[in-house]
Amino acid sequence: PLVKDIMVRNVATIRRGFSVDEAAKKIIQDRFNHLPVVDDGGKLVGIVTAWDVSKAVALSKRDSLEPIMTKNVITIGPDDPVDLAVRLLERYNISALPVIDGDKKVIGIVTGEGLSKLLARGV
Ligand code: SAM
Repeated sequence: PLVKDIMVRNVATIRRGFSVDEAAKKIIQDRFNHLPVVDDGGKLVGIVTAWDVSKAVALSKRDSLEPIMTKNVITIGPDDPVDLAVRLLERYNISALPVIDGDKKVIGIVTGEGLSKLLARGV
């Protein structure tokens, strides 16, 4: 299967310039662990996870997402094979990959949790 066949399409994102507190609220409200960070044009510029938010609180750096988000985001494309997603998650020790189109717009997300569910269903 390809990434586009299994990705979650209704991915929550957050604009750069938002605060850590706003990211924390969004993570809880939307029940996602990962928030891709986008610029005003909707292009991917970073990723923030519940782990990053905890770290920001621990360091008392809660004003802006900019210093705590991961800027070097590992991504995947919709037409890449699911096998590649599994290998990237493993190699970089991460739990999610934003799926981006040719414009760097976020069109979905693949998570380790989602892949486990597929395995459990025998896909
Ligand atoms: N294993 C745990 C996990 O997967 O969430 C924690 C370790 S992981 C190295 C946590 C860091 O990875 C966070 O700082 C997060 O921003 C970053 N991260 C998550 N997904 C990423 C991705 N697709 N590309 C780059 N960094 C990512």
